[in-house]
Amino acid sequence: MKKTNLLALNYNEMKILEAPEPKEVLLPLWGFEDKKDRQKIKEGTPVITGEQIIPGVFSTVTGTIKGIEPLFPVNTAAGNGNGSVTAVRIEVSEREELSPMVKHEPDFLEKEPVELLEKLNHANLGFCEDVETIKDVDTVIVSAVDTDPVQWVSQQVLREDKDMVIEGLRLVQHLTSAQQVVLVVPEPLGHLVQDAVNAEKPIKLYPVKPLYPNGLPEILVRDMANIYNLDNHLFLTVEKLAASVRALKEGQPFVYKVVSITDKEGSTNYRVRIGTLLKDLLALKECFLKEDDKVIIGGPIRGYTCFNTDIPITGDVDSIYVQHWDSGEVIHYWNNQCMNCGRCVRVCPVDLDINLISRYSEFSLFEKCHEMGVMVCIECGLCAYHCPSGRSLVQFIRLAKNQKMENM
Ligand code: SF4
Ligand code: SF4
Repeated sequence: MKKTNLLALNYNEMKILEAPEPKEVLLPLWGFEDKKDRQKIKEGTPVITGEQIIPGVFSTVTGTIKGIEPLFPVNTAAGNGNGSVTAVRIEVSEREELSPMVKHEPDFLEKEPVELLEKLNHANLGFCEDVETIKDVDTVIVSAVDTDPVQWVSQQVLREDKDMVIEGLRLVQHLTSAQQVVLVVPEPLGHLVQDAVNAEKPIKLYPVKPLYPNGLPEILVRDMANIYNLDNHLFLTVEKLAASVRALKEGQPFVYKVVSITDKEGSTNYRVRIGTLLKDLLALKECFLKEDDKVIIGGPIRGYTCFNTDIPITGDVDSIYVQHWDSGEVIHYWNNQCMNCGRCVRVCPVDLDINLISRYSEFSLFEKCHEMGVMVCIECGLCAYHCPSGRSLVQFIRLAKNQKMENM
């Protein structure tokens, strides 16, 4: 990587604490447009953990549906067009019942891939559309590198669940006919898995420097393409891999997510039930918000500011970052004028002239943004982080990208 001004990732150990079970969860029903599905979901309906609510959406708890409501996710591009998505609120029962569709298979490597993939799909861990797709995979990349400087999820799963991860590498070897399975580790943690990986010959270790944005999938794939055949690769995190082994061995669907939370008191790693409300998680950390405090879902560099804490922790949330106004931590981005310092261009890992692109987007010249390659942007946020004018560069990028999608 030729760029300078990269940010160091944290590599201190951060134990994962078990969050108490929530009293209620909120589950977004992504893609919930089918009227027939809508009629099936009724208030008062009991659900069990791992039960499919609509195709592709599974209940993460056992309980009773309390209501169906609109939810405004922080990434509005992910909503139903008006920025909202339908969600179900479920009151959690004291006794948990696991879906019988996720049976445990202690000797899972003796089962046929097609059977295992079906089980993983029922466990909310679908890797691929079907067994035919997974057969064509040439390289599997499994990453233990976190994707934000204030995040300890993948690295801590590797520390605490190393044996599950190694078993998971054997699982993906069994499921695919990949020529290589590559475990990407931050350099400081390579020693944890060196012996185990040496013993499993087709598995390769790919150490990366603990610098942001080295752990972003887009950067890894770009850099690794010089070494491996990635025409048809599969990218997984160690957390998803360990969860897959747990699903197959113990019959436990993917219902828990590790999340790093950082506020002025420091950082904590929790394992939380997916669907837990953000406000409940903040209360657990005793992080009580005041007016003008800022909550960012997804980390300070790449995340989205959220204005409502009655939203759920979903399976893709790795970190939450709280900036406190009274500690002077709140960073605001504005439409300030660009002073042509060129810092954003110097740090951009995909070589975009973002100083120009952002101005085109600002003045709704979206075609120009696309001519200059805005879709190549990986939204790493480095440009905005280093901009001395505090311009909202990532927002300009997202605006231009969404504009393109809306017109397609
Ligand atoms: S957010 Fe996009 S434009 Fe900005 S530095 Fe990252 S890749 Fe480059
Ligand atoms: S870093 Fe900010 S001020 Fe400097 S050129 Fe880029 S957009 Fe303009």
